[in-house]
Amino acid sequence: MFRIPCPHCGPRNRTEFHHVGERSSRPDPRSTTPGEWRSYLYGQRNFADWTTETWYHGAGCRRFVTVDRHTATNEIRPTVEPTAVTEATTVTEPTAATDAHPGHR
Ligand SMILES: [Zn+2]
Repeated sequence: MFRIPCPHCGPRNRTEFHHVGERSSRPDPRSTTPGEWRSYLYGQRNFADWTTETWYHGAGCRRFVTVDRHTATNEIRPTVEPTAVTEATTVTEPTAATDAHPGHR
């Protein structure tokens, strides 16, 4: 069992999530060959190393979360995107609260 750091709910048990799969870039359907499209839909690298995956937090915020996970040890590394969102939220909230109540300074 391992915990997944949800950027909206915090660290949660893995059982709250559904594994969607490895992240991969979607090819352009207008210019890709049938073999490339089949590889995108069904091809998984499936090796013992770090991989970037998408998980769905069905028992929590019901949002998709991207994490880096080692497939052999289930060690989780934080991703860059949630950290950037958290820092931006932390910086803007105190400023907005101060401006909303100018008489309480
Ligand atoms: Zn969540």
